[in-house]
Amino acid sequence: MIILVINCGSSSIKYQLLDMKSEESYSLLAKGLVEKIGLPDGVLNHTVTGRDKVSKVMAIPDHTVGMKLVLDALVDPELGVIKSFNDIDAVGHRIVQGADFFSGSAIVNEDVIKKIEFCCDFAPLHNPAHLLGIHAISNVLPSVPQVVTFDTAFHQTMAPDAYMYALPYEYYENYRVRRYGAHGTSHEYVSQRGAKLAGLDLGNSKIITCHIGNGSSITAVKNGKSVDTSMGFTPLEGMIMGTRCGNVDPNVVTYIMKKENLTPDQMTTVMNKKSGFLGLSGVSSDARDLEALADKGDEKAKLVFAKLELDIVKLIGSYVAEMDGVDLIIFTAGIGENNAWLREDVLKRLTYLGIKVDSAANASAKGEVIISTPDSKVKVAMISTNEELVIARDTMRLTKK
Ligand code: ADP
Repeated sequence: MIILVINCGSSSIKYQLLDMKSEESYSLLAKGLVEKIGLPDGVLNHTVTGRDKVSKVMAIPDHTVGMKLVLDALVDPELGVIKSFNDIDAVGHRIVQGADFFSGSAIVNEDVIKKIEFCCDFAPLHNPAHLLGIHAISNVLPSVPQVVTFDTAFHQTMAPDAYMYALPYEYYENYRVRRYGAHGTSHEYVSQRGAKLAGLDLGNSKIITCHIGNGSSITAVKNGKSVDTSMGFTPLEGMIMGTRCGNVDPNVVTYIMKKENLTPDQMTTVMNKKSGFLGLSGVSSDARDLEALADKGDEKAKLVFAKLELDIVKLIGSYVAEMDGVDLIIFTAGIGENNAWLREDVLKRLTYLGIKVDSAANASAKGEVIISTPDSKVKVAMISTNEELVIARDTMRLTKK
């Protein structure tokens, strides 16, 4: 089955075209990114597997035009990997927020769209863009089935004590205010891969998954199910991230709003877009930039990494406590996969768990690797995440039925 996986942002479309022979046997045919939708200098970056990236700059007024460009690139006589649009059997979309409506992926129909629309309030930056993507595909490929996979679905197994805030109960009843988590496809994927790699029975295991990227979250996975996660009502809660502040005393929010005369929307922007690595360093949200600065002795960049490490150490500790133990700790995503020194720093602070790092394995880790020594009491792994594969598998499973 040829499956197109789409991740629509407010001004971007990320895509992968996969040939799924089965859930286990698949190949990536092409991938790419459309950026700056709505601006005169829109860009399409398209990479066919095994070939160099091709870039095209042009005005891309909206998502339907962007989606048409993606499909045209896929069937292009030179750049293309399929003969015609008809070769695409199904399309899978990543959706950030499905609230408590969805505990798994779903085939797109009117009811599903209404629920995603309802959830726009909880993910105003993401869900409206995902809907644009769904409608763009409906316009360009009207007869192709579409599936939606939710970042929140994996966390629907959390119990009320983990998902409720200690706010007046009616806010939950009236406005569905509770913790939903995010990055679910990644936490689910790496916990499954990690259990296999470490020789654990997933159904009888305690795993902590650390997805550390531009957005970051840590999840406690007990017996294959999410029992707690650091993101909450929105992806703002939890640890320090590229541009998000993570946890702060909620009174700080109202205090700053009064001091700086900010509206709720302006304060939301400060916390989501101007905080985290960017806010603390005053320079960049990107870990690579900050690493270069920290190496030169920049105190603010060093503070960013010190806080990041402390947040990871504290969350791991709280999830060890919550699950009454841990068998396996997994690092994934942009920073978790690529920053060996950060993994080693964190693990050296977990000696109370009897963790011993295999420094050589850690330093050269690529793909899927155990980075703890054989006598370490808790196993540790680095696993490259693959959210698109999870979406493609769910799309295949649901559309084959
Ligand atoms: P997103 O949440 O946007 O998917 P990613 O998981 O791609 O983000 O993570 C982006 C972060 O990972 C950035 O801070 C980036 O600097 C960092 N990163 C990516 N590649 C590397 C690398 N090779 N070395 C160090 N950091 C990296």
